[in-house]
Amino acid sequence: PYDGPSADEIMAKRKEFLSPSFFHFYKKPLHVVAGKRQYLFDEEGKRYVDAFGGIATVCCGHCHPDVVDAIVNQTKRLQHSTVLYLNSAIADFAEALASKLPGDLKVVFFTNSGTEANELAIMMARLYTGCHDIISLRNGYHGNAAGTMGATGQSIWKFNVVQSGVHHAMNPDPYRGVFGSEGEMYAKDVQDLIDFGTSGNVAAFISEAIQGVGGIVELAPGYLPAVYGSIKKAGGLCIADEVQSGFARTGSHFWGFETQGVVPDIVTMAKSIGNGIPLGAVVTTPQIAEVLTRRNYFNTFGGNPVCTAAGLAVLKVIEKENLQENALAVGSYLKDRLLVLKDKYEIIGDVRGRGLMLGVELVTDRQLKTPAKAEILHVLDQMKELGVLIGKGGFYGNVFRITPPLCFTKEDADFLVDSMDYIMSKM
Ligand code: PMP
Repeated sequence: PYDGPSADEIMAKRKEFLSPSFFHFYKKPLHVVAGKRQYLFDEEGKRYVDAFGGIATVCCGHCHPDVVDAIVNQTKRLQHSTVLYLNSAIADFAEALASKLPGDLKVVFFTNSGTEANELAIMMARLYTGCHDIISLRNGYHGNAAGTMGATGQSIWKFNVVQSGVHHAMNPDPYRGVFGSEGEMYAKDVQDLIDFGTSGNVAAFISEAIQGVGGIVELAPGYLPAVYGSIKKAGGLCIADEVQSGFARTGSHFWGFETQGVVPDIVTMAKSIGNGIPLGAVVTTPQIAEVLTRRNYFNTFGGNPVCTAAGLAVLKVIEKENLQENALAVGSYLKDRLLVLKDKYEIIGDVRGRGLMLGVELVTDRQLKTPAKAEILHVLDQMKELGVLIGKGGFYGNVFRITPPLCFTKEDADFLVDSMDYIMSKM
């Protein structure tokens, strides 16, 4: 039983001592005190199916014993900065991570977050190419520091500070984009940006394979191969942001970019990599990695023993528990059930995504695709009352984001869809 401060007491402290920009989804904010596998528990012991996984940060399930043991054991032995002395935790995890990546992608730089990973990737691309121009996608999200905020393609996540050198390409969005699912048509816009907006040479192209914050938008098929071709011709590097779509979440593949059959020059990751522990990484080729030898490069905690011990445990759990196969099986089942729900309710404009990275877009008019902004909040809130937590995103805030821990079961999927069905039937 929980005997700590109440939700109201925490809320009062939060209002007084924490950022005024914090936000939450619910009328009455949820106070979670414990987690186990795909479940969270509030202060009264009520169980919630966590279909958002802390924004896709938890892949093995909350408090997975193997990951917790790895963290606790390493903490008891040693925790320190990464840089000065030899330690096996970072080396073992780097080796294991490199083995999951194709081609020559085998040099790992660890960071503490996704933002840091993308900042480093962008800087390396600029150093390697000697160019400044970055091309990213409208509706993409890459972080909250100067470079990554620049690369982010949504005004709602951008502050009015200097963010130079980024061109935002047309989003290959099969649902809202003008070319539908014709990936190669959208790719022409990237070639146009290179031809008309730059010297003809660029530093990099960065994108997610499935946009997470942007509302689970799976890039139109054929898009990345065409764009990667244009970028390579312009002397640039291709960066795959796998912060959300990586680590087996798509079910069909371990990395999101593999769904489009491309091999990037740099891959960035965070969130699931540590099952909730602050950890990020940049993986690239030995040749590109060389650029960081030009000066001193230092990150006090990036790759520290505790976080990398957790990372190694995560990879082992994904393998041991066949979480990729589970993401595919349960994700496909869940998507099929959501598609049935779409036939039943006009308000569901689109169901999309793969594996356990699914989106449900709500619209008040299917023809005009008018975002159902108020309705989604109602459904979100009611689902919480019934014991299901899902996320929300998209530029208009009208897309459900379903990114549960990868140990999600068919029973959980049924509970989620039945709850949504019940709430929509009452609207
Ligand atoms: N890239 C993507 C695709 C993300 O979804 C996020 C976080 N939502 C980031 C980068 C930034 O990661 P972090 O919040 O750990 O800095």
